[in-house]
Amino acid sequence: MAKHKTHYEDCDVLVVGGGMAGTGATFEARHWGRDMKIICVEKANIDRSGAVAQGLYAINCYMGMQWGENQPEDHVRYARNDLMGMVREDLGYDMARHVDSTVHMFDEWGLPMMKNEKTGRYLREGKWQIMIHGESYKPIVAEAAKKSADKIYNRIMITHLLMDEAQENRVGGAVGFNMRTGDYHVFRSKTVIVAAGGASHIFKPRAVGEGMGRTWYAPWSNGSAYALPIAVGAKMTQMENRIVLCRFKDGYGPVGAYFLHLKTYTQNANGENYEKKWYDQTKELVGEYIDHHPTPTCLRNHAFIQETIAGGGPIHMVTTEAFQDPHLETVGWENFLGMTVGQAVVWASQNIDPKYTNPELTTSEPYVMGSHATCSGAWVSGPEDLSPPEYFWGYNRMLTIDGLFGAGDTVGGSAHKFSSGSFTEGRLAAKAAVKYINDQKAESIKVTDKQCEDFKEAIFKPLETYTVAQNEITGGTVSPSYISPIQGLQRLQRIMDEYVGGIATNYMTNGNMLKRALELLAWLEEDLEKVGAEDLHQLMRAWELKHRALTSQCVTEHTMFREETRWPGYYYRGDHMKLDDDNWHCLTVSRRDPKTGKFSLEKVPVYHIVDENEKRKAS
Ligand SMILES: Cc1cc2nc3c(=O)[nH]c(=O)nc-3n(C[C@H](O)[C@H](O)[C@H](O)COP(=O)(O)OP(=O)(O)OC[C@H]3O[C@@H](n4cnc5c(N)ncnc54)[C@H](O)[C@@H]3O)c2cc1C
Repeated sequence: MAKHKTHYEDCDVLVVGGGMAGTGATFEARHWGRDMKIICVEKANIDRSGAVAQGLYAINCYMGMQWGENQPEDHVRYARNDLMGMVREDLGYDMARHVDSTVHMFDEWGLPMMKNEKTGRYLREGKWQIMIHGESYKPIVAEAAKKSADKIYNRIMITHLLMDEAQENRVGGAVGFNMRTGDYHVFRSKTVIVAAGGASHIFKPRAVGEGMGRTWYAPWSNGSAYALPIAVGAKMTQMENRIVLCRFKDGYGPVGAYFLHLKTYTQNANGENYEKKWYDQTKELVGEYIDHHPTPTCLRNHAFIQETIAGGGPIHMVTTEAFQDPHLETVGWENFLGMTVGQAVVWASQNIDPKYTNPELTTSEPYVMGSHATCSGAWVSGPEDLSPPEYFWGYNRMLTIDGLFGAGDTVGGSAHKFSSGSFTEGRLAAKAAVKYINDQKAESIKVTDKQCEDFKEAIFKPLETYTVAQNEITGGTVSPSYISPIQGLQRLQRIMDEYVGGIATNYMTNGNMLKRALELLAWLEEDLEKVGAEDLHQLMRAWELKHRALTSQCVTEHTMFREETRWPGYYYRGDHMKLDDDNWHCLTVSRRDPKTGKFSLEKVPVYHIVDENEKRKAS
C-alpha cells in the first residue's frame, strides 16, 4: 500500500462528478458559500466529461416564462403524463420554476443560442426544447465551475463515501484514486453532493465486440451515482423505471429534432403507420393512458417493439420528404455534428443519404438514469414550500443520509430535467448544502484514519489480486484465481439482459426470472471480491463494474417488487402484464442495509400536487 501515496483534503462542500449537475452545484455553492471550501472531483476531465461531453444540439428543458410560453405547472403535467403518473411533482415543479434562470446564464456565458430574428425569442425545437449550437456546451459550464471551486480534481474516481463515526447516518466525505498516478485521495467533507451521472452498460448493449462502446448513454456513466448512496444505506426510488430509447440504428443518433423540428415520421417496412395498429392492444394493457397527449414515450416504444415482434420491421424514419428542403437538410445533419458525430459516420459507412434513403430506427438496450424520460434514483427531500411531510426532511435534495445531497441523474422521481434541469438541480442541492453547514448541522464530524485505511486496502485490492494470480494464468487471460473486469461486465450484462428485461427477451421478465437474476447477481457479487486489475485503467474498470453490479441488484429488487407493467415499452412483467392503478399507483422506495446487504422495499404515496392545489383553490 505504501506505493500509493495518500492525499488528504478537508472541505465544506464536495461535489462528486463534474457533469451538468456537478458544474451547477459547484457554481452555486460558491454563490451562497463565499468563504467555504468547495471541491469538485471528476473521473474524466471536467472540460469534456459526462453525457454532454460531445455537445448537444438542443436544451431540452426551458419554460420560456418571460414570454408566457409555459409555466412550471405545465411541465409537471407533461412529466407526470409521460411517466404514466409516477413522478415527484414537488421536485419537478421546483426544478421547472428555476430552470429558465439557468438557461439565461448559459446565454450570458456565451453558449450560442439560436434565436428567432423577428421576436428575439429562443428558437423552439418543440414545446420544451430550444435549439443551440452546442458543441461548446460542456467547456462553457466547466469554466463556470472552475472559476467557482477552490480546486477541481480531474481523473479521480470516487469509489466510496465516508461516514461520520460520531453521529449515525451522517456523511463524512468520500475517497477515491487517481487513475493516472495511482495515488489515494481522501476528501473529508461536511457535505457531499453526488452528481455522478446515470448507468449504461448494465444491460447487454446491442453493439457488442468491437462496437461495445457504441451505446446511447455515455459508456463511462457507470452507476456510481446510485452505488455510492446505496452502499451507505440511502433510500432509492423508482429504480425499476429503466429507459429504452428509440434511436437511429447503430449510431444511436437522437430523433428529437427529426420528429419535432423536421416533422419526420416513422413507418414499418411496408410503408404503413404501425402505431395505430397497436392502439386496441395497448388500451387493453394500460387503459385510458393510451389516449393521453402527447402519447407517453414508453407507449410509443411499445408499438415499435410489438410491430417488430410481429414481423413488421425494420422500422424507418421517413426523412426523404423533409430533406428536400435545403434548410431542414442542413438542420438534420447539424443535429448530429453538434452532438453525435458518430451517426453521420455510420450513415456514410452504410451508404445512407437521408435525402434519398429512409434510415432505420431501433430500440436501445435499457439504461438507468434520473434526468431523461425516466426517473430512477435517490429518494430525496423536496423543497420546504412545496413538499408534503412524507417528501420533506429539512434540506432540499438531501438524501436519507444527513449531509448527503444529490442532483441530475442521481435524483429519482423527477424526470425530464435534461441538461438544463440537471444543472439547475445541482444549484438547488448546493444552496441547501450550504444552508445545512450554516445551520451547524455538520459540526464535529469524525472520520478516523482506520476508516480511510480500510478503504485504501479495499480500493487497491484488485491490483494485488492480479499481481498474485497472474502467475496462474494458463492461457490467454484465463486464471483460476481472478476474474477480469471485462469478464465480470459481460457476465453482469447477460444476467440483466436475459432475466431482467433486456433486448434478448424483448424487454420481458417475470417474478421467476427476477428471482433467478438475484441469485446470479449474488454469486457475481461474491466473485467480484476476486476481480483482478493489471493496471490503473483496469482498476477503474473494476470499480466501475462493482458500482454497476450494485446498481443492478437494486434495479432487479425494484422490478421484482412492482407487480405490474406500468411502462410497457420500457419493460414487461409477463406475470403481471397490465397497469394496475388500484394497487400500484405509488412510488417504490428501497433501502439496502449496509451491514447485511439485504434490500427492503416499500410503497410510498404519489401526490399529485399541481392539480390538487388547483382543485383546493377552486373549492
Ligand atoms: C445521448 C444523450 C443525448 C442527450 N441529449 C440531450 C439534449 O439534446 N438536450 C438536453 O438538454 N439533454 C440531453 N441529454 C440529457 C443530459 O445530457 C443529462 O440530463 C445530463 O447530462 C445529466 O447530468 P448529470 O450531471 O446527472 O450527468 P452527467 O452530465 O453525465 O455527469 C456525470 C459526471 O460524473 C462523472 N463521474 C461518474 N462517476 C464518477 C465517479 N465515480 N467519480 C467521479 N466522477 C464520476 C462523469 O465523468 C461525469 O462527468 C442527453 C443525454 C444523452 C446521454
